Amino acid sequence: MHSHSRRGFLAWALGAAVLERAALRAARAQTQAAATLPTVFDIEKVAEGVYAAVARPSALINCNAAIFENANDLMIVDTPSKPSAVVSLVSQLRRELTTKPIRYIVNTHFHWDHTQGTPACKRIAPRADVISSAATRSLIEEFGAARLEASLEQIPKTLQRYRKQLEAARTDEEKAHYKRMIQETREYERELLAYKPELPNVTFRDDLVLHDKAHDLHLAFRGRGHTAGDIVVFCPQKKVLVSGDLVHCFFPYIGDGYPREWPRTLRSIGEFEFTHVIGGHGPVQQGRDRLDQMAAYIEELTAAVEEGKREGRTVEELARTITPAKLKSLRNGGYGEFVTLCTKRGDAGSFLKTPAEILAEGVRSNVTSIYHSLERA
Ligand SMILES: [Zn+2]
Repeated sequence: MHSHSRRGFLAWALGAAVLERAALRAARAQTQAAATLPTVFDIEKVAEGVYAAVARPSALINCNAAIFENANDLMIVDTPSKPSAVVSLVSQLRRELTTKPIRYIVNTHFHWDHTQGTPACKRIAPRADVISSAATRSLIEEFGAARLEASLEQIPKTLQRYRKQLEAARTDEEKAHYKRMIQETREYERELLAYKPELPNVTFRDDLVLHDKAHDLHLAFRGRGHTAGDIVVFCPQKKVLVSGDLVHCFFPYIGDGYPREWPRTLRSIGEFEFTHVIGGHGPVQQGRDRLDQMAAYIEELTAAVEEGKREGRTVEELARTITPAKLKSLRNGGYGEFVTLCTKRGDAGSFLKTPAEILAEGVRSNVTSIYHSLERA
């Protein structure tokens, strides 16, 4: 992993830690008063030296982060969607886990909620390498800034909707929820105005293995799925898989996806011998059942949409007729109930919706995305 001599390495680690502490102090002062920076993650030990930072619900979603504690430093897999959340997370790591410096930042894929915190993380740990697949680096370069710009343009409309919902709110709980959504959306806009994407400086095509004294970290690309460049991180000694948005506890997001290839990619990833999965969203999963169920769901839904499209049906027609009740894969092992409950708990936008509404909306949105993704080259 390191070509440094031991003395050289210690100097590196010591220097990095000092540098990081100074940067963290500056970032905290810059972002908000440290005392008021809210805790936005729950950090949970998954195995010896492996932790999941599970994101709490927020108006602009944060992804989960996985933290591998190496012998002398840390790897963080995925960064949240905004600088303040990164500063809050790193401060929390320092309080709850370790003061070892961040040496590696991994972007599992290009989406905003996994990469927009990377520049802030890099400011805190300037010597860290940022690693992704080659495809993800190209996608960040192509879409990173433009997607953020488009999302900032949506903010006035979003705020207007929240204000209307606040006016119509009946209970104190609802009022508090919409007030919080308005405040968080405004803060997000302010924080991201000066955003410039940080491009990964280390890329690979299929496999990259870091041999640390504490464990091996196997970064792998096994085909397209949620995007064209998703990678996973597998730690064979600790039997933990970090899966980004290829596997998580919400409905899959297929807007940039390859639904015909995704199930095959999942089955290939399923060959790693893991006991725990830290997905991009929602709680830590035990075993491989959800990975299999998610593959079966995407496969069944894609086949239904393909058939409908061949018969000349419109997307609206398919979104209306392919209902949750028609999908065997949602009943298998209680998968439908599982994603619905995870979405209700973990996604702030699902506040007030009933489980049946969340389920129906999830399937409808997936049908629409698959319909438009089938021809993606
Ligand atoms: Zn994603």
